[in-house]
Amino acid sequence: MSENCIFCKIIKGDIPSMKVYEDDSTLAFMDIGKDVDGHIVVIPKKHVKNILDCDNDTLTKLMANIKKISEHLTNDCGYNGINLLNNSGECAGQAVPHFHFHIIPRKTDDGVDCWPKFTGAKSTIEEIHNKIKMI
Ligand code: 5GP
Ligand code: ZN
Repeated sequence: MSENCIFCKIIKGDIPSMKVYEDDSTLAFMDIGKDVDGHIVVIPKKHVKNILDCDNDTLTKLMANIKKISEHLTNDCGYNGINLLNNSGECAGQAVPHFHFHIIPRKTDDGVDCWPKFTGAKSTIEEIHNKIKMI
């Protein structure tokens, strides 16, 4: 629980939300953005900022529940797939500093474009590969 965190307030019930799934570790609710049909936010109940400071136990439970919700959407709700999105860090577009994934339920030929309009690479692939490779 972090004071002044919008998502902690949603977990506590101080801010209302349309819940989709809840258990001891995880809460999923409808995003209020009205940007695309079915936009869901999935959060750990433990306050961590993003994937960079999230312990593996919290992450494992979160991902297992994301799979559960995604299976529900495709098996029971008539969707054909999902997009799973995450912004970790302000530089990456994270607006709410409580770890969350966005699930966008998808239907065949729904016309939704969930892939960012990138600006085009400025370096060679080899340059970046040399900088970031772990092996
Ligand atoms: P981010 O840009 O941090 O990855 O995404 C934050 C998301 O939280 C946005 O999609 C935004 O619409 C959603 N959001 C922000 N405040 C609230 C709120 O009070 N309730 C709900 N349900 N969603 C919120
Ligand atoms: Zn929080």
